[in-house]
Amino acid sequence: MSPRSKAAQGGALLSRRNFALGATAATLAACAREPEGAYVNVYSARHYDSDKRLYEAFEQSTGIAVRVLPANAEQILERLRAEGDATEADLIVAADAGNLWRLQDAGLLQPAMSASLEAAVPARLREPQGHWWGFSKRARVIAYNKGAVHEQEVASMDDLTRPRFRGKLAVRSSSNTYNLSLLASRIERLGAENARRWAAGVRANFARDPQGADTDQIKAVAAGEAHAAIVNHYYLLRMAQSEDPAERAAAEKVALKFPDQAGAGTHINISGAGIATHARRREAALQLLEYLVSDEAQTLLAPLNSEFPIRTSIQPAPALAALGLFKEEEISLDALGRRQAEAAAIFERVGWR
Ligand code: FE
Repeated sequence: MSPRSKAAQGGALLSRRNFALGATAATLAACAREPEGAYVNVYSARHYDSDKRLYEAFEQSTGIAVRVLPANAEQILERLRAEGDATEADLIVAADAGNLWRLQDAGLLQPAMSASLEAAVPARLREPQGHWWGFSKRARVIAYNKGAVHEQEVASMDDLTRPRFRGKLAVRSSSNTYNLSLLASRIERLGAENARRWAAGVRANFARDPQGADTDQIKAVAAGEAHAAIVNHYYLLRMAQSEDPAERAAAEKVALKFPDQAGAGTHINISGAGIATHARRREAALQLLEYLVSDEAQTLLAPLNSEFPIRTSIQPAPALAALGLFKEEEISLDALGRRQAEAAAIFERVGWR
């Protein structure tokens, strides 16, 4: 889910506690050296050092080792399907409610509920039956060129459909889950016809055919190829902290606007987790899930993560806090999954490839 994904780097991440990607369940069972004590297996589409630190802290406080299989969301879905009830997966971690919903829809997650989960995670940031629970938040925002655009020109996502932005928008493909979730939220709030008009309006303003990931849209905005782009907030933060001076210089030229503050609020999504349908270590998986949303883990995660804590009572990282408080869109995130097929049909209809 991330350009920093290390899954693509093959064995780089493989350690004593990681699975070999591509092994079948049978070879996994035969080859994986069983840890001596208790353990829990995580299939994760998030590959951040911050998560590793969390898992280590969990192991220290519970004695339960966390073994991670890194893969992207699509690979996890395919693998869980192929493994069926022979799977070794206990907890599944993924970014975007749309991806979590796809796992749920395929029957690969089971409901999990507990008082501590319910107390920690706002109801709209989890699946109502407990198939998945958010543990951090991301916002889909407008990145704009500071030299070309006034902040007031991008106050709302609707502003991107104005003639002012004709030939000036950089977007990524509509097959991307982030964009599907964004449009799904609009369908949920305002109906399919409004969503179609918005998508057609944005489509009419493309600077180029959809290409690349969110970071590539920011680079196009920095280079002046486009004036504005729709991106997840953390990509600009990462560019600003990049080791590559060219990325830092590009980030300098770009600002983020959290749109729709006078209206419905900025579109919010989550990173989240759910327990695998055929988990062999359900209790340990539940324990890890509860840990991820606990005050301890949220406080530990906040300064390491470019995402927002799942509760507003936990202070985010300084770079995030500097962006200020903003109004969040209030819809229940399970709508992002339920509306996904409708969103894809609308993108197709308006020619946003
Ligand atoms: Fe991402």
